[in-house]
Amino acid sequence: MALYITDECINCDVCEPECPNGAITQGEEIYLINHELCTECVGHYKTSQCVDVCPVDCILSDPGHPETQEQLQRKYQTLIQQSA
Ligand code: SF4
Ligand code: SF4
Repeated sequence: MALYITDECINCDVCEPECPNGAITQGEEIYLINHELCTECVGHYKTSQCVDVCPVDCILSDPGHPETQEQLQRKYQTLIQQSA
């Protein structure tokens, strides 16, 4: 399941450089996660790097984009192929 950032975000910019998929960008008001690029860090790390570093715990699972571990793994493989 992709993650999303709630409006509790304080725009600290800590998460953006940690994302191995370039899924996090600064939006007009708060940071945003592109659900098409977020693999929950599957393929890169054991834990979600953005969640690990966020000081206000405002990054949550997005119920609008449910995905299994297998789907996240496939998404990772597709992203790797696209960037090759
Ligand atoms: Fe990026 Fe991982 Fe956070 Fe998804 S969980 S936005 S892939 S750092
Ligand atoms: Fe917002 Fe958390 Fe990212 Fe900081 S680490 S920009 S508070 S989502």
